[in-house]
Amino acid sequence: MKTYSHFIDGQYVEPADGEWMDTVNPYTGEAWARIPKGSAKDVDRAVQAAKRAMSSGPYAAMSASERGKMMLRLADLVAANAQRLAEIEVRDNGKLLSEMRGQLNYHPEWWRYFGGIADKLEGAVVPIDKPDHFAFTTHEPVGVVGALTAWNSPLLFIAWKCAPAIAAGCSVVVKPSEFTSASTLEFAALTKEAGFPDGVFNVVAGLGPTVGAALVEHPDVAKITFTGSDATGAAIYAQAAKTMKRVTLELGGKSPNIVFDDADLDKAASGAISGIFAATGQTCIAGSRLLVQNSIKDAFTKRLVELGGSARKGDPMDPQTNIGPVTTPAQYRKVLDYIGIAKAEGAHCVLGGAAASGLPGGQFVEPTIFVDVTPAMRIAREEVFGPVLSIIGFDDEDEAIRLANDTIYGLAAGVWTENIGRAMRMSKALKAGTVWVNTYRAVSYMMPFGGMKHSGIGRESGIEAVRHYLETKSTWISYAQGVPSNPFVMR
Ligand code: NAD
Repeated sequence: MKTYSHFIDGQYVEPADGEWMDTVNPYTGEAWARIPKGSAKDVDRAVQAAKRAMSSGPYAAMSASERGKMMLRLADLVAANAQRLAEIEVRDNGKLLSEMRGQLNYHPEWWRYFGGIADKLEGAVVPIDKPDHFAFTTHEPVGVVGALTAWNSPLLFIAWKCAPAIAAGCSVVVKPSEFTSASTLEFAALTKEAGFPDGVFNVVAGLGPTVGAALVEHPDVAKITFTGSDATGAAIYAQAAKTMKRVTLELGGKSPNIVFDDADLDKAASGAISGIFAATGQTCIAGSRLLVQNSIKDAFTKRLVELGGSARKGDPMDPQTNIGPVTTPAQYRKVLDYIGIAKAEGAHCVLGGAAASGLPGGQFVEPTIFVDVTPAMRIAREEVFGPVLSIIGFDDEDEAIRLANDTIYGLAAGVWTENIGRAMRMSKALKAGTVWVNTYRAVSYMMPFGGMKHSGIGRESGIEAVRHYLETKSTWISYAQGVPSNPFVMR
């Protein structure tokens, strides 16, 4: 078994308390590597290294242009190592190699895009209204960033968080998911090879309530960027407030995917399937509520049952596989529990609805579709994070909007229609951070991504992401002659 160590201050180091844990391949059910079960001591060591990197030494002295070039070098190294890193991710999270390889191929673009932005973060000279004053703004890095990630797309989240943070001049301490830490620990070596000075990029592995909590509580961490469940996100938000940390939260969803009867139904069916069964449904943007216009609901459901039923389950490394295992035993039980709850509440299962047998590892769930789902049912309201689709009918645009927005979440929404006016009206009315029309699950380094309502705070990707890692400073210089007449009033 391979052993991974923390990456702190430019070195791989063993956990201070000498504790380790196994990381398990969800497809085989067997441990394949050992990772540190870190502690608050490791977190403190990493935060001190990150703080030092920002206050003295080569990183503090580095120009923004040099920082950008260092990020471009990292992009090329990730591209050269994409296959190796993707295979590690599959071994840890069981998602398809084709999906993880696609993510790793795309990952370098975040470093290129934000590397290019690094030396263009200009302030402004403000044509200030006070006579004989010169006033300007500058943007400074917010400070040490704590980055906490989920298990479904480990290195993609590193790119989303760390590329804008480092473009802004911050240093980072990453706490990857305890289920999928290996690829992040492996990636750390590439930052060193790219010439990142010691302490700029650190990784501390371990459990959420210990290592994650220690990072969120640490007084020398200025900002937390988190991807994970809304329950953990809310706890982190409350904890971060005690030390007045800035936060970006990328949380869960119950996204509506809305099919009108004027849609191209071949495209819509493919989009509906990809919205829920890709990645075994373990994606924050899963289109888990399929709203279908009543005039086509039965025929469209039949198509989805055929398409979903044809999905091949198996080894995620095999290019023929469509559906891999659920990543963790707890998540597997949760998905099956929700299937049971849906049945008990009166939803009617037309596809799957059970564990899939005859496969290794014991963590496969049949792609599942429920009809006769009402908006009040838990299956229509709560995030399952598995291959379980709820189909709900609607009559017209107004009803579709009402049903779509009847959720605490607001991460994404899909709309399938050939009517441009309808597409525009829906995009405006839907309360979601992303609206896809005639496509689904599209992301880009250029396009802001994030949630409204309980789906999160802030945006990742796109130019605005870098602002989340900067503080604006206003500097005033008076060149007035003489002493102000009255020192007891505001100038
Ligand atoms: P999770 O909330 O259980 O864990 C996320 C991270 O937080 C892990 O690193 C975990 O160790 C850590 N953590 C757990 N408890 C903590 C605590 N008390 N203090 C500090 N850190 C703690 O989420 P998960 O199960 O890994 O991921 C699935 C969830 O992530 C789903 O809800 C999904 O929708 C969401 N997600 C959101 C996005 C997005 O971009 N919006 C993307 C992917 C996943």
